[in-house]
Amino acid sequence: MDRGVPDALRKDEEFWFDDGTITLIAEDVQFRVYKGLLARLSPVFADMFSLPQPVTLEDKTGPMRATGSDSATPPVVHLTDAPQAFRILLKAIAPDDDAAMFEASHPDCFTIASCMRLGHKYQMDKEVGQCVDYLLQYFPTPYMEFDALEDLLPPGFEDDSTYVIGFINLAQLTGAIHLLPVLFMICVWCLDGDTLLQGVGWLDASKDTLSPADLARCFDARRDLTRARTNSLRQRIASLPSSGCSHLGACKNVLHALFLLAMSDEPYPFVRLCEFPTAQGLCSACQARLATLDEEEMSLIWAELPELVGLGQIEGWGEKRERE
Ligand SMILES: [Zn+2]
Repeated sequence: MDRGVPDALRKDEEFWFDDGTITLIAEDVQFRVYKGLLARLSPVFADMFSLPQPVTLEDKTGPMRATGSDSATPPVVHLTDAPQAFRILLKAIAPDDDAAMFEASHPDCFTIASCMRLGHKYQMDKEVGQCVDYLLQYFPTPYMEFDALEDLLPPGFEDDSTYVIGFINLAQLTGAIHLLPVLFMICVWCLDGDTLLQGVGWLDASKDTLSPADLARCFDARRDLTRARTNSLRQRIASLPSSGCSHLGACKNVLHALFLLAMSDEPYPFVRLCEFPTAQGLCSACQARLATLDEEEMSLIWAELPELVGLGQIEGWGEKRERE
């Protein structure tokens, strides 16, 4: 047992190498890995290891302490991270098979969140970039990609949109602002007030809550998305019947019924009227015109989405993001 290490500590089953050159302690779990590998991937670890020990480094989440050691045992560094999260970071940089984490299968949301949070903390840009690239597939910037999605959430979210709260914080932490418009829209659309206030709990017992500014953004976004939806529905109904309408009276009645149906209280703005079964009652000219109007309106609302959720204009919004 290393000097100064209490007996209650246990070795990590996956990341304990007898010939490792550094011992990292997260809560009651010890990781023994290779100093050089970590220092090469993370400027934060490189700095930490280059300092004479013992040393105390402060970061946002609390102190990280590197304590001295004799020549026979590797130095010991105390981390403020949860062991579950730190293990995920080690897995991301040293996967035990050939497949990278994001190619092997769909990672669960705690894995993505931990990799993003700790990757940011230890300045491991590649790991953070991988997380952002993965998330952009599900919270995309071009409307075409959003429209093509079968599910609103990535598979690892297990249909629980509460996790979106955590990723709003993580996207802001890492500067991945292009993720935010869809994340906020899902928040506003799927979560009730109490859930918005309570936030989300993670596997390691940590928690993410929305900042007061983001909570306020959600309230305003609910109003603005609802307004955008109403205006857009009204706009389309006002542009019909089509000039080539063959059943003017009947089509007007169907349009009135469609409008009432679509005016539910949901703030979700991407509603295609032509997909309502009631729209089948329109003549073929009106159906074709409605489909065109739907497409135009979807693109217009998408272009405004960052502003509708209170984020202002985002450069490059609507364009395909290149992999980082
Ligand atoms: Zn018609």
